[in-house]
Amino acid sequence: MRIELLTTGTELLLGTTQNTHGAWLGQELFKIGLRIARQVTVPDGPAVIEAMHDAAEAADVLLVTGGLGPTSDDLTREAVSEVFGVELLEDAAALGTIEKFFAERGREMAEANRKQALAPVGADILPNPNGTAPGLYVPPRLTGDRQCAVFLLPGPPVEMYPMYHAEVVPRLEALAGIEAVPGMLELKFVGIGESDFHQGIDDALEQIAGLEVGYCARLGEVDLRLVGAPDVIAAGRELALAQFGKQLVSDDGSSLEETVVRLLKARGKFVATAESCTGGLIATRLTDVPGASEVFGYGFVTYANEAKRDVLGVSWDDLEKHGAVSEPVARQMAEGALRVSGADVAVAVTGIAGPAGGSEEKPVGTVFLAVAEKDGSTKVVRQMHPRGRAAFRRAVSQSALEMVRRVLAR
Ligand code: ATP
Ligand code: MG
Repeated sequence: MRIELLTTGTELLLGTTQNTHGAWLGQELFKIGLRIARQVTVPDGPAVIEAMHDAAEAADVLLVTGGLGPTSDDLTREAVSEVFGVELLEDAAALGTIEKFFAERGREMAEANRKQALAPVGADILPNPNGTAPGLYVPPRLTGDRQCAVFLLPGPPVEMYPMYHAEVVPRLEALAGIEAVPGMLELKFVGIGESDFHQGIDDALEQIAGLEVGYCARLGEVDLRLVGAPDVIAAGRELALAQFGKQLVSDDGSSLEETVVRLLKARGKFVATAESCTGGLIATRLTDVPGASEVFGYGFVTYANEAKRDVLGVSWDDLEKHGAVSEPVARQMAEGALRVSGADVAVAVTGIAGPAGGSEEKPVGTVFLAVAEKDGSTKVVRQMHPRGRAAFRRAVSQSALEMVRRVLAR
């Protein structure tokens, strides 16, 4: 079953609204064993007609988003009528629902909203509890030779997502027949790159019949995606973990910070952060996770030398002698954070984000990271991430969280 997606909206091409429907629908469709074969985006207006015409040639199912509004450039209803030669008629029930939507909010319905009740004869009207414009389903039998099932869905995500679940999924499942839904497993690794997989296990994974393998590399992490039958996925997983088990962060889609928070909770431990060059990003990432307060109480941003000394007790001598970006300072920051916060684990980072501030001995991108444990030793590492301020911060926060994860995973 070939599914095509037509996203409409001038704002999507101007870039003022990010086109997230493709990504969202891609993930949702995959859960029921379906995929989007092609996605096309067009501005509002007559371009919708042409694009719908093209898509209907090859598609068995066409999902269209946006353009159901009341304004003159909202043309997807009209486009369906023109492309498939179906007549539009005002649907009394749909009009009643729209009138009720306005009445409930104490607002006057504009005449322009009337056209939102237009529907091809024989189409299903898809209720929209979150907005005025109902969606439409035009079954294949109404589309003549093309035999294409067409869904018209609203643009706003708050309206589109619930309509997709309530109205689109059941119809798609019926259209697709009962198909075996392949499983998917996403393994997230930190501390290795895509090339490590290519050298390490790519060939071996390829030997597993029926296994589809995909990689998604982001800054400081790689996702390995395994698609196939359960036994085939299990074989792929075993192979990957035999080689890279230590670097595995999660196998359920959890992020690194979610994994760290989960491990801390499981161990009943608290973490503290002492940050210089990351300016609080490590604490931000930790507190992005719901329930972080159970494992995180203190995050220090000590940017100036005085702050490192006054708040964390870093030795002034060491700051002057070794510089703020140095092994002893990173160590003392972590140990100071541990002491002041009473946490069980503390992580500290101090580095040179650039563009200025580098030297021959410590070029831009140099960072020292330290992890201190309450009843243990402090580990300090030196790394290089010469890649611009934002990417530098992200990479350093990634390494810092990974160091905490390693300590907890022991
Ligand atoms: P209305 O005009 O009544 O709001 P509509 O069905 O005509 O509804 P659009 O005008 O196309 O929908 O889109 C309304 C809003 O929905 C956009 O401003 C945008 O915020 C969001 N939206 C539309 N398409 C997308 C998309 N592909 N990805 C993310 N957001 C989108
Ligand atoms: Mg609109």
